[in-house]
Amino acid sequence: MIASNADLSCLALATGQGDEGVCLLAQIGAYRILLDCGITDISNLLELEIDGVWCSHAHRHHSQGLIALHTARPQLPLYGSSATTILLGLDNFIILPWQNSLAEGSPLGTELYPGLYARIFPAGHLPGAAAILFTYQGSDRSYTLLYTGDFFISNTRLTEGLSLNDLRGCRPDVLIVEGSYGTARYAHRRQQENGLVQQINALLTEKNTIYLLAPELGQAQEILMLLRGQMAGQRIEIWVDESIQNTCDRFIQCLPELPNNIQNFSRDRSLFWDDRGWPRVNPWPQTPKSGIFLITDLIALEHLQSLESVLLLVPPQYLESSTNLGLKTQKYFLSEHSDGAGTAQLIHNIRPQHVIFVHGSATYLADLTGLEELHSRYQLHLPSAGSLVELPIGDTFLHAPPPTESTYEGELAAGSQLIHISLPATVADDPRWQNFADTGLVEARWQGGELILRGVSARQLLNYPEKVAENLHCCGNCRYLRGQRCFNEESPLHGFKVTATGVCRSFATNLL
Ligand SMILES: [Zn+2]
Ligand SMILES: [Zn+2]
Repeated sequence: MIASNADLSCLALATGQGDEGVCLLAQIGAYRILLDCGITDISNLLELEIDGVWCSHAHRHHSQGLIALHTARPQLPLYGSSATTILLGLDNFIILPWQNSLAEGSPLGTELYPGLYARIFPAGHLPGAAAILFTYQGSDRSYTLLYTGDFFISNTRLTEGLSLNDLRGCRPDVLIVEGSYGTARYAHRRQQENGLVQQINALLTEKNTIYLLAPELGQAQEILMLLRGQMAGQRIEIWVDESIQNTCDRFIQCLPELPNNIQNFSRDRSLFWDDRGWPRVNPWPQTPKSGIFLITDLIALEHLQSLESVLLLVPPQYLESSTNLGLKTQKYFLSEHSDGAGTAQLIHNIRPQHVIFVHGSATYLADLTGLEELHSRYQLHLPSAGSLVELPIGDTFLHAPPPTESTYEGELAAGSQLIHISLPATVADDPRWQNFADTGLVEARWQGGELILRGVSARQLLNYPEKVAENLHCCGNCRYLRGQRCFNEESPLHGFKVTATGVCRSFATNLL
């Protein structure tokens, strides 16, 4: 393992890319604090000098190594918020008190070790999730480091978002921030929620039984609160699997930590288990019934007898893995992290000297470090797993060389029927191009004053829900469709089971 003599540094043991969780060792003055333990193999941690462990929130990618680490090194203090300890079901934590703003409480917070103080702020995202601000007061100078963990600026059904106002002007020497969504922009959370409710309502009108996959801790509880709020009065039975049922009970134990409106809502009824109103939430049924089933994994579907009217709703990243179940599948999306705009806004509000990006695909994080508005003002770092980031303070800021160009200039040619957009061929050098160009089809959509282009994948084509009109160029009207499969070797859909509404550029009409 690499060691550092600097007063401030960060050893990235795991940076939350792909299936790997987050685990960082921060040197803050005289102390070394482990920021999250989201790894399964903790052997690397056994020999390291560590003074304490901070767990930002209860998601697996941030906490899955904690029990093993605690078993191996029981003397090592674990720090977390009260709701995080409840959701994790661990009782050996030292609970840090909330601070809702910089102005509140003692200016330095709780003294963890002589000279090292910590303050924690609600980070949105999941009940209990917290951003932590460390201050080290050394003999000649002090250092500050803010670690956001996963954060979300918007309110969700069960959390209030991270407050930029409360952190404004905090000016830490170092900010360690997650960048899961890169520079992507998403619709307002409320709009996404309304979209999901509409999607579910439309499916129920078609008499579908819906299986909704909500694999992350807290996702199902968000959706339950959403459905109980937005579909109030509709006679719908919702069934939840055992894991969701247990998490619901843990959320109820966290009630004092939940937003005021939720506390008011549950004053005279149980937060989830209320059998007087509709929709009604029930534990998993003994015999198959109809309604909405919330599941944390796809195993439950293997035992289904009749799949005719079943529709599966999954988060976008599960679309691929769920297709071999042979079920009608649609994706749904509710964002859980701040988008690119939110991340940049946080950084500008607190104005750190160094910014370390973690958590998210390397290309997404590189999009963030490529933003001119960021790399011209802050020292940005994108560590890979196993690397050490030295964080010299107060040195004259050397502007990093501009990153590789990520904006492409193109040309428009507007005809009477079609618009052609030409882009330089270098756009295809990016590894993401292959996915984008998968079928050769794009989807365009307005977002404010901008037109967003998105590649249509073969999978998406199979899931298009629209009805077929006779004159449409689509699989249902194609001469190469046989027994629901595509037999056109030229087509990207060749060999796939297709829906009538699928389309590709190799369409050939069956009308002579
Ligand atoms: Zn999380
Ligand atoms: Zn995470």
